[in-house]
Amino acid sequence: MNAPSDMPSNQDENREQTGDPAIPHLDSVSQDDERIEEDDDEGDCSLSEGALEKLAEEASYYITGCAYGEPYDEGEVVWIHPSSTINDVLDLIDVPEECKESVAALITCPTCRDHHELYEEVAVKGDGEIRYESLIREWHDKHADRLDEFYEYLSKYPYLGAAHPLGAEIHQSFKKFPVTTIDDKTWFRARRIKSGKPLSVEDFTPPDPDQVAISEGRYNHHGQSVFYLAKDKEGAATECVEEGETRAWVQRFKIVHTENVLDLSLEENWADEDLPVLALGLMDSGALRKVVPRTSGWKPEYFIPRYIADCAREGGFNGILFKSVRHWRDNLVLFKYDQQNVVPEGQPEIVEIDERNRTDWMNRPEPVLPDSPFNFDDLGLGVAPSAAAPVAPPSVEKEQNQGE
Ligand SMILES: [Zn+2]
Repeated sequence: MNAPSDMPSNQDENREQTGDPAIPHLDSVSQDDERIEEDDDEGDCSLSEGALEKLAEEASYYITGCAYGEPYDEGEVVWIHPSSTINDVLDLIDVPEECKESVAALITCPTCRDHHELYEEVAVKGDGEIRYESLIREWHDKHADRLDEFYEYLSKYPYLGAAHPLGAEIHQSFKKFPVTTIDDKTWFRARRIKSGKPLSVEDFTPPDPDQVAISEGRYNHHGQSVFYLAKDKEGAATECVEEGETRAWVQRFKIVHTENVLDLSLEENWADEDLPVLALGLMDSGALRKVVPRTSGWKPEYFIPRYIADCAREGGFNGILFKSVRHWRDNLVLFKYDQQNVVPEGQPEIVEIDERNRTDWMNRPEPVLPDSPFNFDDLGLGVAPSAAAPVAPPSVEKEQNQGE
């Protein structure tokens, strides 16, 4: 996490402008009789109680803790979070010098629940965190409702996404969406265990749509062959099993080098400098991670992710890194399977899913719908022959070969 570069620089500006010797003043507070100093300051500060409280609230936004929440090494605090003095935080929000003591007295530290003196160092939000929160606010103020409208619109006109104002904006801002390169990394792909017959490596490569029916998925249209992978074995297995199943076949692949992968895997509450608000909103809103009722033949929850996938393909991206709905790790979809770049390693093995991990993913903020408990279509690997009739695959026989 970046140090909050704003704080010291703002403080310097203030000092330059006012010529106020802030630090000597603070030293005197810490060494002299505080009560007298405070009384003097309170006398000078002309702000109302309400205004002081508002400033304290504003300052509290930046303060995440204090030294008590940090590790110590030989009696010395080691700041693992960005830190700053209370005085610097108050400079950041332009608290008049004579009111600082009064504002500081109104700030309750989230770690020790006490108040800190102006000279004391506290943990503060980093630039990326502040940027993230400000983008989230902007998203909710300006775009969140529009995303709901876009969803409704796509539900009616799945092929007209770019004709909707938000669809057009997403399409236009796509070049600024985060990009990543995957180098020399291991990924996994799984299939359900359907018989005693062991699977071979070939069973894990994307199928030929001329030979088999490829079902629709989160990032592919019906019949469109893509390559879905998960970051760990168990994640891959979790993606494809159906209710009551605890094991699956898993094949390991090495991705040698794939660049230009759209990165929608935002993990922490942290935003890069030029992350577009639309990219952040799409990731944060859950629009890309809606659980799809498995028994329904109508899956509008896929339309926004698939619109994103179309934008990504058209924009020259080779794939999308995204958060799973089913497990904690990342998933990856590659639009093309390139044998030089995606190399199978070893033979398929049967992987047992750890029940504790299942509990974890089932307790995620977006719960699996109770009336359709398990949909594993996300990797398209678990197309259920028993699924609702309207979109049943043309041949159940062929299902064994369906990759996506
Ligand atoms: Zn504290």
